[in-house]
Amino acid sequence: MQYIKHFNSYRGLIAGIDTKIPLINGAYTTAINFDNAATTPPFLAVLEEIMNFSPWYASIHRGAGYKSQCSSTLYEEARSIIGNFVGADPNKQEVIFLKNTTEAINKLSNRLVNLYPDAVILSTCMEHHSNDLPWRNKYTVDYINIDKEGKLSLRDLEEKLQHYQGRVKLVAVTGASNVTGYMNPVHKIAAMAHGYGAEILVDGAQLVPHASVDMLSPKNPGHIDYLVFSSHKMYAPFGTGVLIGPKKVFQQGAPDCPGGGTVEFVTHDYVKWLSPPLKEEAGTPNVMGVVATMAAIKVLKEIGMNHIEAYERQLTDYTLTHLERIPNIQLFNYHQDNHPKVSIIPFNIEGMSHDMVASILSHEAGIAVRNGCFCAQPYVQRLLKVPKEEVQRIMEDDTLPHLGVVRISYGLYNTYQEVDALLRILREIAENRS
Ligand code: PLP
Repeated sequence: MQYIKHFNSYRGLIAGIDTKIPLINGAYTTAINFDNAATTPPFLAVLEEIMNFSPWYASIHRGAGYKSQCSSTLYEEARSIIGNFVGADPNKQEVIFLKNTTEAINKLSNRLVNLYPDAVILSTCMEHHSNDLPWRNKYTVDYINIDKEGKLSLRDLEEKLQHYQGRVKLVAVTGASNVTGYMNPVHKIAAMAHGYGAEILVDGAQLVPHASVDMLSPKNPGHIDYLVFSSHKMYAPFGTGVLIGPKKVFQQGAPDCPGGGTVEFVTHDYVKWLSPPLKEEAGTPNVMGVVATMAAIKVLKEIGMNHIEAYERQLTDYTLTHLERIPNIQLFNYHQDNHPKVSIIPFNIEGMSHDMVASILSHEAGIAVRNGCFCAQPYVQRLLKVPKEEVQRIMEDDTLPHLGVVRISYGLYNTYQEVDALLRILREIAENRS
């Protein structure tokens, strides 16, 4: 395949893109960020929008002042703009603003327990802890298996749905893995789940910033019932997460997090809750975060998610093609079979620890990556083929394991030149230091 190393015009959209950082030898270099799966830097347009909004900054919903009214209107309008970006229907679904994906999944797990107290929840062996731990201790949780390459087994999904005979109420699956980048066929999974009377939650933390999502499109085999994602992974600041789900789920009963902003009428022995989504957003809402999220979405839409997906896929393919040629590099996702993946590449260098590699990249080349288990320990244990007895030993022992891999993750603004800088130093490390 021919790769065209064109100038990446998206670079200019990012704040702080030319920041100089010190290297271990005392020289300064322009920082390269390949840790976008953790957090993306903000768009300049997002920061501008925050400044533009500043004159209208006010606490919302209950303020009679003009600014409060303006802010309230903007905040409420954001629900349909943000919902629309992922193909939600504001007439059928609530768009609830929270702190991040983790809080959104916790809320859903607390909410559904009232509706389905005896439910089985199917999570998967490739989930981030945030789409695994919140389901435990409230439901019977089972995990859909992965194949030997780390991809989700649809056959195991089908078998588990059959096995539980209608008790599975939710399949909680990531849209794309934060370790391998593998995308899951979420609409196909949705159709399978629906066929057995279950709903689907898609953890969109790694999907929404990198590919177009259409929750309800009739073009897809199965609709998505619930979607969660975080703004700080899509070029807006920290502190805003989104939970989208059917209105009926949030209508009945008390919210899991009661407090100011959730009630219509209160005495010491009586509470009348507000209607959702307000009932689910206790405390003073993060208006600035929601404004910033809207601004980020505007930029993403202007570029076009299809362009972002295509560009990032090329950058990923280019990297994998070249990494495969470097001796001693062990890759943990597979290039050859064209399985759809977002721009995440996990690897190790044989004979070197993952933290040593990450540290050299940072101190000698100014390249930020992440290493370890990325809040997906069960998945990384399987990718590394850690024997069950070893996992057992670690559980019984008090020492923390040194398991892990190095992860490169791209954003839309990363360039071929930056990738070449990475390949150069990795070649050097792998050839000379292992
Ligand atoms: N799910 C996935 C797949 C993630 O990658 C992450 C964060 O890396 C999360 C959930 C949690 O997101 P947050 O930390 O914004 O709650």
